[in-house]
Parts: sequence; structure tokens; C-alpha cells
Amino acid sequence: MLTVGIDIGGTKIAGGAVDAAGAIVERLRADTPSDAAAIADAVVGMVQALAERHQVARVGVAAAGFISKDRSTVIHAPNIAWRDEPLRDRLQSRLGLPVTLENDANAAGWAEYRYGAGRGHDHMVMLTLGTGVGGAIILDGELLTGGHGIAAELGHTRFVRGGRLCGCGQHGCLEQYASGRALQRAAGEIADAGGIGERLAALRAERGRIPGREISRLAREGDPGAIEAVARIATALGEGCGGLQAVVDPEVFVIGGGVSQLGEDLLAPVRRAYEASVPGLVARPLAEFTTAQLGNDAGIIGAADLAARRD
Ligand SMILES: [Zn+2]
Repeated sequence: MLTVGIDIGGTKIAGGAVDAAGAIVERLRADTPSDAAAIADAVVGMVQALAERHQVARVGVAAAGFISKDRSTVIHAPNIAWRDEPLRDRLQSRLGLPVTLENDANAAGWAEYRYGAGRGHDHMVMLTLGTGVGGAIILDGELLTGGHGIAAELGHTRFVRGGRLCGCGQHGCLEQYASGRALQRAAGEIADAGGIGERLAALRAERGRIPGREISRLAREGDPGAIEAVARIATALGEGCGGLQAVVDPEVFVIGGGVSQLGEDLLAPVRRAYEASVPGLVARPLAEFTTAQLGNDAGIIGAADLAARRD
């Protein structure tokens, strides 16, 4: 029997039939509709299509939003039309299959713990650098969900007092300094300053903006402006991880998202900033840093695996 994993993001819904070893045997994709009823229709259609071709026992859904403590309801989603949406029961009654609901960053972190970069480490922190920063914490081999269901929103830990305004309404959150969007902002500032920002400025003049993928490409080619942009977000991320070390004491930090494809070019400055900011009062082993291995499949695999183990 297989489990279907569905990952509902702000722009795309990705689904897959997942086997007991965490491998996706078939994938489907659709655009995310703009209203809640149409999203449920799209998910039901995707599950039914997969169930026609595979023996499906249950369904795991990863959703980009705050999930209630009992894992039945999406309380709020910043980029999707859900407000107190009873997604689990709505899908369960239409599908006639058991449905499990989890936050998308938590599902991705769970997948990396079970089948990816965090395998073998029962204490793991994952940070995914996208538009914002997604977070997941594995403690003692279990996903940390918290007293209200919304633990590990690591992108919204206070990083700079009185800092930049964040989409969550607070100021100075880590994701304003260490996300994919923060990388683009840093590149823009370096382009404005001239000097080493020359190639970034030329790219912006040509494209009208500086895409994150292009910053990574220039950094790999050794462009000093792009390397400086990466260094700025890497430093913020490393310092943020130093603070998390004091709370969680993980064995490993897994870094995901598009910019993690820079590999060591990203991890080396992250590690330096982390080692300089870990509280120094107690001598103790430092955590490892590694990049995520499952890419965009992590949400599907994690949602399915969480559903499969909640037997
Ligand atoms: Zn925030």
C-alpha cells in the first residue's frame, strides 16, 4: 500500500504516491486556485487520480499555514485563502481515506530527517530559505509542534531589535535578513553602491531586477559583488543558528531552499558566523551544517511519511 503526499503552497500544489521507503512513484502538479473550495477540489482530484493507478491507504497533506494544535484546521495562511479552514475533515469526508495535516516546513524537515540530510540525527534544525524562512525542529526523533501547534516558526525569531518590518507584523525577524528575498535586497544594495556591485548593477539594468538564481550563478563564477551578497545573508543565518544552538542544541542544521544549491560557498560563511556567535560560556561540541537533499519533493515525502506513521 502507498501513501499520497500533497504539498499545498501559495502558487503550486504538488502531489505524489509515496512508497514505504520514502520514494515517490508518481508525481502530479497543479496551480493553486484562489479560493478554499477550489483548493479542496484540486486536492481531491489529485488524490483520486493517483488512487486509480495505485493502492492508496491514506493521505498526508502539507500546507503553507499555521495549523491548529489538533492538526485538523489551517488557522491562517499568509498566501492562501484559508481562515480557520477545517481542511483535514473536509478532505477526509470527501475522500473516504484517513487524512493527516501538517505545516509545510515541518513536513519538509521531517522528510529530511527520515530520508535526507538529517538522517541519523535525532536532534535536527532545518531552515529553508525561500521568500521567507521556513523552520522545523526535530527533538528526540519527534517533530516539535508546540503548545499551540505553531512551534519552529524560526524565520520569525527576533534578529534585530527595531529592525526591518516583516510580513508577520513584527520588526527585525530573521527572515528579513536571511531569506531568498533578503539575498535579492542585499544584491540590490551592493549594486547601488557601485564598485564590486558592477555586474549586479548591469544585470539589474538588463532584467529590471536581480533574480536569486543569477546571484548564485555570479557567486559561483567568483563575482565579488554576488559573493558579498551571499556573505551577508550567510552571516545573518549563521548568527541566527548560534542563537538557536543555545535553545535546541541540535546535532545538525540542515539548510534548504534555492540558495542552498551553492553548497559549501554558502555553508562556509554560515559556519564561521555560527561558531563566532554560539554562547561561549560552556565548552561543547558544535553542530554540523549540511544542505537539504530532497529539494521540492520534501513536502510530499514528509507529509506522506507522517501520515503513514500515524497508524
Ligand atoms: Zn516575522
